[in-house]
Amino acid sequence: MKLLINQKDNIFYLKGVMNEFAKLHPIAEFTGPVMILNFKEVKRINSIGVRELIATIEQVDSSIEIIFDECSSVVVYQMVMIPNFGSRVKVKSVYAPYYCPECDYQEDILIEMENFNLEQSLLKATCQECDSELEFDDDEKLYFWFINEDTK
Ligand SMILES: [Zn+2]
Repeated sequence: MKLLINQKDNIFYLKGVMNEFAKLHPIAEFTGPVMILNFKEVKRINSIGVRELIATIEQVDSSIEIIFDECSSVVVYQMVMIPNFGSRVKVKSVYAPYYCPECDYQEDILIEMENFNLEQSLLKATCQECDSELEFDDDEKLYFWFINEDTK
């Protein structure tokens, strides 16, 4: 499976698996004040894919603002590898993994990062199968490690 990149204006929609075959040069060659990378459909990233992403971000002109949007959890787990992440990249929204303690239903819920606050912002969500309250399926502080980075 390859990584597909679909560009609409200043938004790059990435889809598939980010690995050694990912061709990220359209991102590196972008010109404009702001670029948005949408990671909603990125299902897997390997270590070479992360290195490709890091190298690509380093090639983007420093005057261009880089925004990560709709980051799937595989992307959230790998963002920590990106040097100077918080000062170089702004995170608009991420998918957070939730599960139902009653029936094991799982759902990724999109969380907007504007005004996000760990104590207050994790959503109360209801299981679509059994109406129980869903629980966040990770360590909040580790999962949202980039919030503090973001405000530096
Ligand atoms: Zn349930």
